Amino acid sequence: MKHTIAIDLGGTVIKIGLLKNGQLIDRTEIKAQSASGLKPQLPELEKTIDKMLQTNQLSALEVLGIGFSFAGLVDSSKNRILSTNQKYDDGPDTDLVGWALEKWNWPLFAENDARMALLGEWQFGAGKDCRDLVMMTIGTGIGTGVLINGQLLKGKHFQAGNLGGHFTVNHEGSPCTCGGKGCVEAEASTWRLPSLLKEHPKFDNSAIKTEEVLDFKALFHHVGNNDLVAKEVLDHCLSVWSAGIITMIHAFDPEIIILSGGIMKSASVFLPVLQENVNKFAWTPWGKVKLVEARFPDSAALYGADYLVRSSAEKCKMNSYIENVIKPQL
Ligand SMILES: [Zn+2]
Repeated sequence: MKHTIAIDLGGTVIKIGLLKNGQLIDRTEIKAQSASGLKPQLPELEKTIDKMLQTNQLSALEVLGIGFSFAGLVDSSKNRILSTNQKYDDGPDTDLVGWALEKWNWPLFAENDARMALLGEWQFGAGKDCRDLVMMTIGTGIGTGVLINGQLLKGKHFQAGNLGGHFTVNHEGSPCTCGGKGCVEAEASTWRLPSLLKEHPKFDNSAIKTEEVLDFKALFHHVGNNDLVAKEVLDHCLSVWSAGIITMIHAFDPEIIILSGGIMKSASVFLPVLQENVNKFAWTPWGKVKLVEARFPDSAALYGADYLVRSSAEKCKMNSYIENVIKPQL
């Protein structure tokens, strides 16, 4: 059984993993310079991967390929980046497949990062034994992925299921980075949180004003201290996320919804509220959709990349068997 290399290209950090059959053997992180583009990151990535192979005493021949997660729209049939949103904007002009072939002679399989994380949780984590699930990661923005009957939902242009963070929850709402307005992430996400707090009429009287960074960690801290502004802003976020989750349920009919992201550290504070809203407002006559915490909030995409490389390599083998062995006999 060969190893796989997983790369998860985030906005601030690039995670690199070495896996073998669903086991994370080694991992490291490098700082991302997402504003300067994707191509300038490649030499550093090469160095890091080569060092990882060396540390683990592996040759390139012992690696099956690279699974590449990207925070944007990805054409996973051609393994190309289709569209970016203010990160790695030269992604669509970067030939990742050619890069991996030229450098190591490995195949590279690319996928949107939310779908890759979903694959990881489905195969090895909170979604095991499910065939219909939705995953939502609440971070700087909000990423979503959908699995229906054991297949990733992709759509005609590879964007189906990925834009749950851009479902409109307020048709007269705040402008979004996507060009729309009132999207889930434009109403409640890490990038929106500072302005949400500052727009609260009592912000100047709140202890949260003294925080250097207005993120969800700070918000939950002040909710714990019974701060009125923090509590009201959290209530607003929960109501926005509930609307997004219920829309996902109505659109995709999942059995469970896996929630992930840094905020899950405070899941005990807010998960029961989201579950209560789902129970109350989602139209699911068959029963209740369960909201569950991700098992690998920090590394699901690495596990997903391992699965994607192995299953794609298996498919390639099968296709070449059909082409070279079965078809000539017909
Ligand atoms: Zn949007």
